[in-house]
Amino acid sequence: MRKFGKITLLDTKTAHCTKHLNNIGPEPLERQFTITNLKLQINKKPNGKIKTILTDQSIIAGIGNIYSDEILWRAGVHPERKVSSLKETEVKLIFKAVKETLTKGIDFGGDSMSDYRNIHGLPGKFQLHHEVYRRTGKKCKKRNCAGIIKRKIVNGRSAHFCSVHQA
Ligand SMILES: [Zn+2]
Repeated sequence: MRKFGKITLLDTKTAHCTKHLNNIGPEPLERQFTITNLKLQINKKPNGKIKTILTDQSIIAGIGNIYSDEILWRAGVHPERKVSSLKETEVKLIFKAVKETLTKGIDFGGDSMSDYRNIHGLPGKFQLHHEVYRRTGKKCKKRNCAGIIKRKIVNGRSAHFCSVHQA
């Protein structure tokens, strides 16, 4: 079973050294997280597929399956592209899309496509604003794009992407 969270009581001073956190990559919404950090992190696995690398918590913290699809749709990058094949301009678009998509997710209170509820027991609203996730067979929402959303399994997770602007 996949686990989404745990609660551990820790001393503040040593919290970052705990085995629960010391294997987690940088937090992408920190101001210190720059495109240089992103490049450094993803290039740890140059042969990996970008979708898989974005959801690898040891590379970057906090990007799950839904957000990775939304990020790559926004950046116009196919989920199966090898990290080493990405052009400088594509990495820039991914960087921008990571910041924008996660910020949008937080602004809408998270994604409750599944069972996520906030501490008040209320669902988030990001699932009402998906551009690509679970829109298989539908027309791409990108302006002037004639693409259709496709679904494919990438390393065991479902990937949704546009057949035209993410080709
Ligand atoms: Zn498209």
